[in-house]
Amino acid sequence: MSRAFAEVKKREEALLCRTYGRYPLALARGRGARLWDVDGKEYVDLLAGLAVTGLGHCHEELCGVVARQAEQLWHVSNLFYQNNQLDLAEKLLSTSHHAKVFFCNSGAEANEAAIKLARRYMRRVKGRDAAEIITLSDCFHGRTLGTLAATGRPGLSDGFAPLPQGFTQVAAGDFEALGRAVTAATAAVLLETVQGEGGVVPLPGEYLRKVEALCRERDILFICDEVQTGMCRTGRFWSFEHYGLKPDIVSVAKSLANGLPMGAILVTEDAAKGFEPGSHATTFGGGEMLSAVAAKTVEILLRDNMAERAAFLGGHLKEALEALRSRQPGKIREVRGLGLMVGIELAANGRKIWEKLLDRGYICNLSHEKTLRLLPPLVIERAALDAFVATLEQAIQE
Ligand SMILES: *Cc1c(COP(=O)(O)O)cnc(C)c1O
Repeated sequence: MSRAFAEVKKREEALLCRTYGRYPLALARGRGARLWDVDGKEYVDLLAGLAVTGLGHCHEELCGVVARQAEQLWHVSNLFYQNNQLDLAEKLLSTSHHAKVFFCNSGAEANEAAIKLARRYMRRVKGRDAAEIITLSDCFHGRTLGTLAATGRPGLSDGFAPLPQGFTQVAAGDFEALGRAVTAATAAVLLETVQGEGGVVPLPGEYLRKVEALCRERDILFICDEVQTGMCRTGRFWSFEHYGLKPDIVSVAKSLANGLPMGAILVTEDAAKGFEPGSHATTFGGGEMLSAVAAKTVEILLRDNMAERAAFLGGHLKEALEALRSRQPGKIREVRGLGLMVGIELAANGRKIWEKLLDRGYICNLSHEKTLRLLPPLVIERAALDAFVATLEQAIQE
């Protein structure tokens, strides 16, 4: 442990609430898909701040937008009309079949907004007292009380009871169980097409299509949580496009403003009728500074065909990892994912391998102690991915 790092670690322990288990690393600087720690050591970033910095660190054009907007206007409140917010909404809506946007500050808040909208839509538009939200096992929708209830993992809500009512969870992939769970009290089904925090688990397309069809048949809302999968990460702008789905509501956050805190829901014309002036709000939602950065982020993602890039690089990475899996039998149980959202499930506890990778300059996430989770910035070079696979092979062989 270097002196510089030991100093940071000591201050953290003294100053901050003990909510995070942190990696033994203090980062000081970043550029593209590279990071440097407080001792100047260089790393390849295969995590992108947990699917946040999709365009990489300190993207030149985004730095320009931040600098210009910082001198013009930061925040005024949603009491006023704001052009940057409208530019962003227009750009976002150009990517999907939705008609309206609500801006907020995080993924959890985006899902809260989706849940609130679904319930209010059922009562005010459909005239049904239907408030139940159905979610899937191993999902993750956030850490507010409402989204914790939706997430339904006992470990995460330990000590926080009582959680809000009105959430039912069924086994992911079990269509019959979902069919049984839908009742007259159901407002919506909320799911991730690829369960990110669940260990990078893509749900089968056929299942997803059946879930959507069931929602149509029973006249309830179909909500996709695209907080992690959205913004080109999976090889399409939205992951629901892979399956031809048309969710009524989509939540987005993580990479929306490439590292500044921002979330949103995209909503169809019909579902949007569930809100009216005064029914939902948040102070910072869609502020001028954040909207300017997010609008430029969306513009660059579209202009530079980042979805295609993610599909190509993700396909290349998965192929290389499958080849590694065959070369080293018994070491890798499964390679999963979609685009640049990749999980490498190891046959044994992966702590040692993860530590070796970090030591050799590769930052990734270890999920459930056995799955290496890769969420690299979409701008990462192919050579960096190849070098990672080679380093992983060494680490596995040792
Ligand atoms: C990260 C995540 C969230 C929560 O987002 P926060 O910004 O941390 O509140 C919700 N849903 C999914 C799928 C996520 O990956």
